[in-house]
Amino acid sequence: MSQIDHSHRADASTWVDGADHHPDFPVQNLPLGVFAPASGAARIGTAIGDYILDLSAMAAQGHLPQAVAPALRRPTLNPLFALPASARRGLRHALFERLTGEDGYALLHPHLHRAAHCAMHLPFQVGDYTDFYTGIHHAANIGRQFRPDNPLLPNYKHIPIAYHGRASSLRVSGEPLFRPRGQIKPAADDAPRYEPCRPLDYELELGIWIAGENPRGAPVPVGDAADRIGGYCLLNDWSARDIQAWEYQPLGPFMAKNFLTSLSPWVVTQEAMAPFRLPQRARAAGDPAILPHLLHERDQAGGALAITLEAGLRTAAMRAARQPAHRLSEVGADHMYWTPAQMIAHHTSNGCNLRPGDLLGTGTISGPDRTGFGSLMEIATGGATPITLPNGEVRAFLEDGDEIIFRAKAEKPGYRSIGFGICTGVVTAAMP
Ligand code: MN
Repeated sequence: MSQIDHSHRADASTWVDGADHHPDFPVQNLPLGVFAPASGAARIGTAIGDYILDLSAMAAQGHLPQAVAPALRRPTLNPLFALPASARRGLRHALFERLTGEDGYALLHPHLHRAAHCAMHLPFQVGDYTDFYTGIHHAANIGRQFRPDNPLLPNYKHIPIAYHGRASSLRVSGEPLFRPRGQIKPAADDAPRYEPCRPLDYELELGIWIAGENPRGAPVPVGDAADRIGGYCLLNDWSARDIQAWEYQPLGPFMAKNFLTSLSPWVVTQEAMAPFRLPQRARAAGDPAILPHLLHERDQAGGALAITLEAGLRTAAMRAARQPAHRLSEVGADHMYWTPAQMIAHHTSNGCNLRPGDLLGTGTISGPDRTGFGSLMEIATGGATPITLPNGEVRAFLEDGDEIIFRAKAEKPGYRSIGFGICTGVVTAAMP
């Protein structure tokens, strides 16, 4: 597991204007991403305050460690995350030194771009995407709506439940969401129809980016699995609840989810997250014991994440009136019933190979009460308890023109908090 070192010191300061007080990107964060400046091709960068530092250009001029320079040539992070974690730690330390040392300014300042003038791209070419279901309060809330007497299925506390998602429709934050059409069968009707989704929803999740590769047939031991985490992002698993209700048995989500998944562009690295670890929450009395291949002392002691996620809603009317987003919920990522290391250990436990740039979703993260629910399906109880927004508008699910905005921060006493940037998307009219 990644160690705390001098690059996490709360009193570290950079010469980059405003970065020391930036809510997301102080010098302790140094997230990695792919960006394109106003005039120029896509390349690799790191966010520092309101700026992006061009790492591809720095590498080309010989200003970054030889261990990582060749991996920074192409506009995707896959080659860098195929390297051992020690190479990325070396890159972090080199950047930290230059950004905190006075002599860094002359060297780096030609490679700084104002983030507001840049376009962000997906950070990886994603080969495979898997969405888990580790938010136990979410699983219970949704299960209760479908099966009031039996909300959690018997396997839930034994295995980290997941399904294979769709990589082709992963998009970076800002991509508009066409309201999908699909096959829908209301309970009162005899036959399904093909029409636009009505109960359109979001799901508040973290994305976990995979580093390195295990050969097929070689499971990753749970005690080693933290080393396979490259970093984290925000993930919105947009969901069409009426399509889902009709299609989900017996094989799980398919067309209800695969039309778009939105991701925040910055990879908050496993190295940056070193201080922001928590013990995994104790299981409730009566919960089954964890099987040995998913249980490791170090993972139980520090495998959970000290991240707070927030979802906000801004309707078209709120934007027109220049009103800020309304906070729908706020939740701690430590409400996940399984740790990221357990997800990786389980995913590879049958010999499945995970590759650099593969993406895992945690599943919707919900807290124990409504203030922390991670989807409208839960907040508005499937439409039974709609919410009233500050301007009087009422919502049970998403209407055209609505924008969903995710943010998150990692916090721990004694450390400078770091953030994830933004994951946003506006619902537009039904697909043509
Ligand atoms: Mn999901």
